[in-house]
Amino acid sequence: MFYDGNKLKEVFLKAKRERFGIIASNVVFDSTIRGLLEGYEHQKADGLLQMSSGAVKYAAGKSQSLFIGAELISEMIKIIARQYKNSGVGLHIDHATPNYFDFVVHCIEKQFVSSVMIDASKEEFEENIRISSEVVKIARKYGVLVEGEIGYIKGTEDEIVSDSELYTKPEEALEYVRRTKVDLFAASVGTNHGVTKGAKIKLKLDLIKEIDDLLIANKVETGIVLHGASGLTAEQQQQAVANGVVKINKDTRYQMEMASAVQKYWEIEKDAIICPAGMDEDDFLPDKKRFDPRKWMLASENAVQKAVEELIKIVGANGKSIMLS
Ligand SMILES: [Zn+2]
Repeated sequence: MFYDGNKLKEVFLKAKRERFGIIASNVVFDSTIRGLLEGYEHQKADGLLQMSSGAVKYAAGKSQSLFIGAELISEMIKIIARQYKNSGVGLHIDHATPNYFDFVVHCIEKQFVSSVMIDASKEEFEENIRISSEVVKIARKYGVLVEGEIGYIKGTEDEIVSDSELYTKPEEALEYVRRTKVDLFAASVGTNHGVTKGAKIKLKLDLIKEIDDLLIANKVETGIVLHGASGLTAEQQQQAVANGVVKINKDTRYQMEMASAVQKYWEIEKDAIICPAGMDEDDFLPDKKRFDPRKWMLASENAVQKAVEELIKIVGANGKSIMLS
């Protein structure tokens, strides 16, 4: 089923209480959505789907209209999600910088989304607090959750580029969460956006616990979010969850899985469209049964499902859907 902000809040509260993670998966089009929802349902796990501004523009086609793209993605998810009764997902806007403020407000008011991330981390601290608080004020009226961030997360994600590696300072996190009242907080603890390998990341897992403990001690406990988590090992992710992370973002992993599934398909089936060496071009007939897009897109869909199921099990979300209780 599709979760609105209030339902999604229950999901995160349960995850925080029982210390398991919610896999937040970036989506662009229907095959990714189908693969993911099938995976969440199969594992009886709740999840969150998220769309970046780049994905939203892509979904709209040549017009690049944010409003069309967001409505399309939201409706697709809501309709596909209706078929599933043992799991649920919400929809989230990933990394909306202040120039997307109007877009964020539109998605909240139209109830396209269950939560939004306002990423004003490139602004001065006070300005970040001001902008984040404003989004929280609007979102609260509609029961939509808000994720915020301070400092930078290394790497490239769509339109966000950052080279500096700045770890979150716990006192700043406390001040930010206390003043903005965000529901979710993205901590910079050494993860990288994009393609990375776990071994190379200087992940400060203790910093997550330090931030979490400080927020709890000050009665502003919140869900901590781990960005750029595609390259982390299973142990690193489990440790992060044990230390207070509830939302683990995944994007690159699915892109890799989809691309390699399609590549593998065409490696085997290439004579469905290309005349094999040694054969006369006049004798060659392309094979519709094998070049039908549903065939090779399904390969990528199945790969996404397999990946999300593996991730769900790593962070212990299997069998934990609030739909079961
Ligand atoms: Zn991110």
